[in-house]
Amino acid sequence: MTENSCSDADLNAAVCGLLERESEKLGLVFAGAAGEETDGKFLEEYGRWLDDGCAGEMAYLKEHYPLLRNAASLLPGARSVLIFALPWPFPGNDCPPENGFISSYARGRDYHRVMRSKLKRLAVSLSALYPGASFRAAADSAPVPEVEKAAETNFGRRGRSSLLISEKLGSAFFLGEIVTDACIRKSFPEPADPCRGCMRCVRRCPGHAIRGDGFIDARKCVSYLTIEFHGAFTDEESLSVGGRVYGCDECLLACPWNRRRRAGSFDSDFTERGALLNLTLRDKLMLSEDDFLRLTEGSAIRRIGYLQWLRNTACALGNLSSDTDDIPLLESRSGLSEPLDAEIRRAAAKITLRAGARDKTSRTL
Ligand code: SF4
Ligand code: SF4
Repeated sequence: MTENSCSDADLNAAVCGLLERESEKLGLVFAGAAGEETDGKFLEEYGRWLDDGCAGEMAYLKEHYPLLRNAASLLPGARSVLIFALPWPFPGNDCPPENGFISSYARGRDYHRVMRSKLKRLAVSLSALYPGASFRAAADSAPVPEVEKAAETNFGRRGRSSLLISEKLGSAFFLGEIVTDACIRKSFPEPADPCRGCMRCVRRCPGHAIRGDGFIDARKCVSYLTIEFHGAFTDEESLSVGGRVYGCDECLLACPWNRRRRAGSFDSDFTERGALLNLTLRDKLMLSEDDFLRLTEGSAIRRIGYLQWLRNTACALGNLSSDTDDIPLLESRSGLSEPLDAEIRRAAAKITLRAGARDKTSRTL
């Protein structure tokens, strides 16, 4: 699809200009406007990924699959999908180990809320230019193949890590969309393959989840395990989680396209909430449910719920601690859920083993 696909080229150019300017004022980047149909080759590959079971417990992805074909399933008569990128601060792997790791995107206000409120403001500006047209804003709240749509506009290309890589923004940004029945098109010159011979993210991925073909096996991904997966970890999964309490940034940290992204100004909504981040793993484990809810008010972290938060924290403590004083702390959280109990037992066993090995070494020395 090109800008010329819409019959009124002058209006299209004016609208795209307005979207660029208004987006910038809101801290967004206008990432192009694609047509309503989704590329068939992508749908085939994605369908195979789902059939292979790579979505794990995310059954909604399979349910939503038929809706991905055409944006008209979200908005009757849809003709365009407008894509917007919202960069988040990407400071690097900077959480002190004793605090556990929280993914950089989740350290401020919930991006779903931030993105949606900006998109709604843009939709109001668009309504003035297209009286009578409909606009539906979405940020992870509707089945839109957003990476694919942004690749269709050439804003970037899907990298080996499955994330969209933009030459301008790297891969640490959110995508949001406005679906509309107005015809708007905007595309960019086709970018080169961002990955070429690079395998950095594949080598660095703690769960060996990156398949190399632009899709990851979510079942092995630490982000999925700590956020989407509600059950008990296997030994292998627990080990791959390492010291992470919420999400994983390793494929972002590995990617050379993110190196230039470390500096710059970002939306103040993404300012880190130190009250939660700065707690040690022990304090995180001992939070009451009320305190968890208070400290995660308006944050994406709240979505995982208290019990999953405790499971992840127990897992991280078990992977890092060699202090046997942590065992009674862990055991004091027993009896709340089976996945948490399983993690507490495993963490206690690991700490005992590590403390024993340490004592043996110090006796030898
Ligand atoms: S988020 Fe972490 S575990 Fe998931 S694919 Fe990226 S590096 Fe691998
Ligand atoms: S780390 Fe390398 S292989 Fe992975 S997405 Fe970035 S450029 Fe591509």
